[in-house]
Amino acid sequence: MTARLLDGKQTAAAIRAEVAAEIARRRNQGFPPPGLAAVLVGDNPASQVYVRNKHKACQEVGITSWVHQLPADISQAGLLDFLQQLNADSQVHGILVQLPLPRHIDEFAVQQAILPSKDVDGFHPENVGLLALGRPRFYPCTPHGVIQLLRRAGYDTIGKEVVIVGRSNIVGKPLALMLLQKRSAQNPAAGEATVTVVHTRSRDLRELCRRAEILVVAAGVPALVTAEMVQPGAVVVDVGIHSVAGKLMGDVHPQVAQVASALSPVPGGVGPMTIAMLLVNTLQAAAQAECR
Ligand code: NAD
Repeated sequence: MTARLLDGKQTAAAIRAEVAAEIARRRNQGFPPPGLAAVLVGDNPASQVYVRNKHKACQEVGITSWVHQLPADISQAGLLDFLQQLNADSQVHGILVQLPLPRHIDEFAVQQAILPSKDVDGFHPENVGLLALGRPRFYPCTPHGVIQLLRRAGYDTIGKEVVIVGRSNIVGKPLALMLLQKRSAQNPAAGEATVTVVHTRSRDLRELCRRAEILVVAAGVPALVTAEMVQPGAVVVDVGIHSVAGKLMGDVHPQVAQVASALSPVPGGVGPMTIAMLLVNTLQAAAQAECR
């Protein structure tokens, strides 16, 4: 079997076109453009690329984007002060602080400093709580990207055995929450799946992965999931991204394409979807700001 490609580039382009059309419609009605402020602390090269890609994607759909590059040795108090200024700026509807942060800065304190209504990454404890309760304000971008990639390719998760490898706060855990919840008008991305979360202390990675009709891998280990760990015909989403000897690769071994019925590529799978969902959240933040 050669797996069908879950094309994140194409799916993300469709979502970006929808966002652009909605922003144009709102502009015609006299609303200001949505605004996203990205904060980059230090000069991590990968972070610079991510922020540049987000900035470009914003410009293409009509979101005003500011990139604030702050020195690596900025104090935590200095960064929190800066975030307060962005919180108070009515042109800024969404704020994102690119991770990772330098070691002397407490990531949790930074996430708490962003106004929940501008927290387009969905990392603020209030937004995590709302998500856990099935009343999301913003869906976190990567988990939402995974769900939209599946749905728009025709794979609904209702009643399915879904296995997620990874339990991080950014990917595995919120994705598990979203996939197990009951779908409603308030929670349209909810998956209604039977969800298993696999992590470093789980006992039999191979057997657990083989249960999956839909397998999502976000472990941060290159080529961790090999063909014999995948149930023939399973749908596999690879969230991982690594640069190995100058080449990008994911957490799923390329030979999985011979066993799975569908597989997301790296690059061109979940990566572009994450950015598209950030645009969706920024538009939503601007629309919600008009309602307040
Ligand atoms: P993380 O390191 O915070 O978490 C990894 C998780 O995987 C941990 O919970 C750990 O328990 C689990 N894990 C690690 N090794 C394992 C093993 N051998 N068996 C079972 N479980 C194991 O990583 P993260 O932030 O969730 O990111 C995961 C990957 O996804 C990384 O490669 C990251 O670069 C990538 N990522 C991509 C996007 C995107 O937009 N494409 C977004 C976020 C993260």
